[in-house]
Amino acid sequence: MLKGKTALVTGSTSGIGLGIARALAAQGANIVLNGFGDSEGPRASIAALGVKVAYHGADMSRVDEIEAIMAFAKAEFGRVDILVNNAGIQHVAKIENFPVERWDAIIAINLSSAFHATRLALPAMKQANWGRIINLASVHGLVASAEKSAYVAAKHGLVGLTKVTALETATSGVTCNAICPGWVLTPLVQQQVDAKAAALGISNDEAKKLLLGEKEPSMQFTTPEELGALAVFFCSPAAINIRGVAWNMDGGWAAQ
Ligand code: NAD
Repeated sequence: MLKGKTALVTGSTSGIGLGIARALAAQGANIVLNGFGDSEGPRASIAALGVKVAYHGADMSRVDEIEAIMAFAKAEFGRVDILVNNAGIQHVAKIENFPVERWDAIIAINLSSAFHATRLALPAMKQANWGRIINLASVHGLVASAEKSAYVAAKHGLVGLTKVTALETATSGVTCNAICPGWVLTPLVQQQVDAKAAALGISNDEAKKLLLGEKEPSMQFTTPEELGALAVFFCSPAAINIRGVAWNMDGGWAAQ
């Protein structure tokens, strides 16, 4: 379905971004990977799907590096047709103890990077009259949890940016939507499981059940593969009139 298209997925060396990159590649899209850590394993797993894959290690907290990765994608593949703004980090602390540099980093990576990548991707998408922008927000773009001030503020902001982008492209073949997962067992959440297990002196499995039990009625983690399937649907012709939604995949979290 996506043969000949190019997808840039930020933060795709791990977790949800990698799951979405794989799902788009399985539909034939060429992929630009981004993120820290090992890039060779992710690159090989996507190349094995028979598409072209390139990697750029831009730090998405920096405007000059975002400009560099967008220029790189254009030079490698001609255009970015699908932009998945996924790179994100978390920090958990009460507001009065929240490190100022963590606040700045979360706003830069989880929110401002999506603005910069979007502003740089839109002109070519509008010219081609086809494009898909998918913002990885969170159920925390819809509701809050204590001790996650920067994350909740950034994700609510990302849902707002999604709506504005959708309005500014509403009469074109470009759509913009947000995905709002609940718990997904990636390194970002494993850190929170580990912290709970250590704080309460319980096992990893018990900490996972506690985490799910607090928020997610289905008592199941959403998987990167399920999120990849939703991203593929957003890229399909059937999704052309889905514009500006914040689509939760959260096991009932926000229904409460
Ligand atoms: P992860 O830690 O597994 O992956 C994050 C990715 O972002 C990695 O590839 C990492 O290298 C990259 N990254 C981090 N800082 C970066 C930077 N400055 N520049 C470029 N890349 C950077 O996390 P994940 O759980 O897969 O999270 C992906 C997205 O999904 C995030 O935006 C997160 O907020 C969101 N999300 C996650 C969950 C969850 O439960 N895991 C739930 C809702 C939303």
